[in-house]
Amino acid sequence: MPKPGFMVSEVYRNLFRKRATILYPFKERELVHLPEGFRGRIVFHRDKCIGCRICFMVCPARAIEMVKDEKGLRPVFHIYRCIYCGQCAENCPRKAIEMSDIFENIAFDKKTLVVK
Ligand code: SF4
Ligand code: SF4
Repeated sequence: MPKPGFMVSEVYRNLFRKRATILYPFKERELVHLPEGFRGRIVFHRDKCIGCRICFMVCPARAIEMVKDEKGLRPVFHIYRCIYCGQCAENCPRKAIEMSDIFENIAFDKKTLVVK
């Protein structure tokens, strides 16, 4: 158990230290520090996609659905299922998937958490 003298000095030291917490999400959004390599919400470059289905096959969370459109099969990303592993982006041969730094994936309706 720490000695009382040590505890008092710790209290004094912390009284005058700069605050470690930030008032996110109400203020200080710019102080949110994202580490290098952070994986956030998927950005899909549809024009680069060739419909190869690799992203669909490597996704461990089954967050990707292949849907037919006028160009053939294209992925639809169900963000509410995504675990941000980055496998789809890493394996896409056309670099059509990007892991962005968008981390605010909040919605009242999960159907809006979809990237096409
Ligand atoms: S980041 Fe991972 S979990 Fe999310 S869609 Fe890509 S492969 Fe699936
Ligand atoms: S891996 Fe890339 S090119 Fe292949 S279907 Fe997925 S997004 Fe399209």
